[in-house]
Amino acid sequence: MAESTELKCEPKIVIEEKDIETPKTGAQYDGKDFPKFTDDHKSLMKTYLTKDLYNKLKDKKTKSGVTLAHVIKTGVDTPHLGVGATAGDEESWEVFAELFNPIIKGWHKGYDVTAQKHKSNLNPDDLNFTEATLKSFNKAVVSTRIRAARSLRGHCLPSNTTKEDRLAVEKKLRDIFENKFTDDLKGTYYPLGKLTEEQTKELREGGFLFQKPRPTNLLYFSGAARDWPEGRGIFHNDKKTALCWVNEEDHCRIISMSKDGDLKSVFKRFCEISNTFEKNAKIMYNDTHGYVGTCPSNIGTGMRASVMVKLENFNMNVTLLEEACTALDLQPRGSKGEHSAAEGAKWDISNKQRIGFSEVELVQKLIDGLTQLLKWEERLSNNEELKDEIASYRSNKIAGQILRGMDMSQEDIQKIRNLVTTKVNALTNSERETKRAEAQKWEDEVMGCKTLEEQLKKIDEILKKKGEERGMKLEELEKSRSEDLTKKIIEFYGNKRADTQDRVRALFKAIAGFGIFKIKPATKEENKDKKEDNEEKKDKPDTNETEKTESKTEEVAEKKETREETIEREKNEEKN
Ligand code: ADP
Ligand code: MG
Repeated sequence: MAESTELKCEPKIVIEEKDIETPKTGAQYDGKDFPKFTDDHKSLMKTYLTKDLYNKLKDKKTKSGVTLAHVIKTGVDTPHLGVGATAGDEESWEVFAELFNPIIKGWHKGYDVTAQKHKSNLNPDDLNFTEATLKSFNKAVVSTRIRAARSLRGHCLPSNTTKEDRLAVEKKLRDIFENKFTDDLKGTYYPLGKLTEEQTKELREGGFLFQKPRPTNLLYFSGAARDWPEGRGIFHNDKKTALCWVNEEDHCRIISMSKDGDLKSVFKRFCEISNTFEKNAKIMYNDTHGYVGTCPSNIGTGMRASVMVKLENFNMNVTLLEEACTALDLQPRGSKGEHSAAEGAKWDISNKQRIGFSEVELVQKLIDGLTQLLKWEERLSNNEELKDEIASYRSNKIAGQILRGMDMSQEDIQKIRNLVTTKVNALTNSERETKRAEAQKWEDEVMGCKTLEEQLKKIDEILKKKGEERGMKLEELEKSRSEDLTKKIIEFYGNKRADTQDRVRALFKAIAGFGIFKIKPATKEENKDKKEDNEEKKDKPDTNETEKTESKTEEVAEKKETREETIEREKNEEKN
């Protein structure tokens, strides 16, 4: 996949700069042995780096000299990171694939680079963005920004590069900015070290500039902060609507911005920048990973499209905003970037996924999602109770994902949805509250278990007991399928016990979801028979069988509220 890198980076493992801080772990990882992981280490890298895998990969080296020790150093020295591994060059993705592939799968919700292809679409005309949408966005949106990473084939990535190679990257990029960016894109390149204090302040206040990596983020102990600020810089066009960051986390971060809600124009400019690079340089890209650079979290499109939008009503109920975003595959951030607060009720709303969807598809999700979010915001201003609607919106989506993953047809899923909707609509508010309180009690019980395995057992127990109380005998799971499910969950959770309420809830959902599947047998032939069987029974609403289906689906609806979304959020909180 990767083209060989000519340049020998010969990176050192331990970073020997005078001002480098000591990691929380006491000393920097020297790469001599299997890392000493502690309970503080949270990364997917730790999860997948078994001793066997370590031994298998420890003597491998890319042509430019990147070793396993370089790849994992950041995650060893910075325990709280969610990913915990960096690529030192393009070839790292291939040489250390046995570590990177499961990390990618874990981070990007099952995206499998060994089986899936990533498609890119940088044609703004494929977006559906009407005049009416533009008008409503312009009313609510303060600014729009789309960014992605591009790295140059044949050079080492920032964590493992040399001074010379870093400068060579800067030179190539600078040439593109100064000679190939024309018309609207024309502008100036500013080496970071030469910015005046005033320029720095102005750029920072506009949200245009990046920060020096700190010891808490992914870049620092990976080696990407060496020789700061040499070789780093920022380009912007005269209107400050096209920006490029040089040699921060990736060789180049391309950014398109505007001070309105015109997502289509911002995307169009983003595509122009990307195409200009594509025409004038060899970019790291392949058809399974999409665009690659330093961090597994930014592969695929590597794109985050965001709008800064005032949401005064949602701002008074942040949990509801998070739930709403989750339902729409969006992510809310504060107004000064990740982990910051939303000043003046200003929220940064962006696409959550990066790979497996094209750029056009992800921007479209933002367009459609924001349209829905603004409708909800408006209804909130009329004091309408939206919580249930948002929760069921989200639970439908998650239930669908899980059940599809279990080979259930869209049609069957829709049938279940209809049943659930009918059932839930029939509940009074106080009935809903009672059910919620009950669910909370189960979750607390599961939260008290010490291991993931115990938690899974407990949930099974609760669901069975609950079923019996309702007069339905749950079928025993076929052993192998039950094991499959357990395996999947363990893979997903990295065998760590579910330690937040959301994670516990997600476990309930997965298991209850499988419960539904149980009444839909696995093989196609059987499936067909049973389907007809079920159809018949559903047509007669008073039979026991229907009751059984309804009760189970209802349980799933209640329990299926926040699956991967919360996990994604947690992971993002740890992100660089
Ligand atoms: P990323 O990882 O995509 O670069 P961060 O969350 O680190 O995003 O934010 C980087 C900077 O970009 C922050 O200062 C943030 O306020 C700013 N920013 C993000 N989205 C927008 C937007 N739509 N309009 C204006 N500024 C934005
Ligand atoms: Mg960031």
